[in-house]
Amino acid sequence: MTTVTEFDQAAAASIDEALDVLAGRRIAVLTGAGVSTDSGIPDYRGKGAPTRTPMTAAQFLADEHARRRYWVGSHLGWRAFAAAQPNTGHRALADLETSGVAAGVITQNVDGLHVRAGSRRVVELHGTMRRVFCTHCGQVFDRRDLAARVEADNPWIAIPDSVALDPDGDVLPETTDGFRIPACTVCAGMLKPDVVFFGEFIPAEKFREAEQLVGAADALVVAGSSLVVNSGIRLVERARRRRLPVVIINRGATRADPRATVKIESGTSEVLRAFADALPGARRRSS
Ligand SMILES: [Zn+2]
Repeated sequence: MTTVTEFDQAAAASIDEALDVLAGRRIAVLTGAGVSTDSGIPDYRGKGAPTRTPMTAAQFLADEHARRRYWVGSHLGWRAFAAAQPNTGHRALADLETSGVAAGVITQNVDGLHVRAGSRRVVELHGTMRRVFCTHCGQVFDRRDLAARVEADNPWIAIPDSVALDPDGDVLPETTDGFRIPACTVCAGMLKPDVVFFGEFIPAEKFREAEQLVGAADALVVAGSSLVVNSGIRLVERARRRRLPVVIINRGATRADPRATVKIESGTSEVLRAFADALPGARRRSS
């Protein structure tokens, strides 16, 4: 199947320029919320997104009311995440890895869509909604099992047809009264989703893994991130220090635009598809 996408003139020119820059190079890819918008997960930092105050880890740990509100929202969000499907962009990145062009994906997303699309080397910088762990004994739980337990403990919990969902899987629930917070089945300790909360640091080991991926690549492609989060900009800095070309695909300005070799103002799905279609050939020619 051939996908023909109409790009505007400026985008088409910058895609050509990016393909020239990337030809024959092994690329590391950094993705943000923008790659998941075509899967129906809104980008709360993108254009027109509502402002939002995310819950901090300190609030979550200290305040039972906040924790109850978080779990209700997170449960509904998880249900919506689980129903979302990988899109053309996720699949294009998996194809780029299969063909040997992409070294792997570093993502700021917690939706797990890269893994589901078939990407094998995925560094989930901000963790994943798929797992929950005990803050006391460290036991890890599969989110699907926990979701079943939450529903068994809270049979009243209604799953709305559509929830106002953000990339962290938060929704604003209508009510949290009477919600039974899930606890660790091993030690009854407090459970926490395996995601980096607002204001929390990315685990050092995880960031090192991302740095290694950039360190082993010949180019960095940033897709669908405005690079508001510092970890993203640090990875761009690392690439620039090694004098690697940096290609940015994003609708709207990003913090690294002045440092980009090529900036493509376009949707990520169609551009990544164009990369996957064009780059294996370019790679074969150069090797
Ligand atoms: Zn425990």
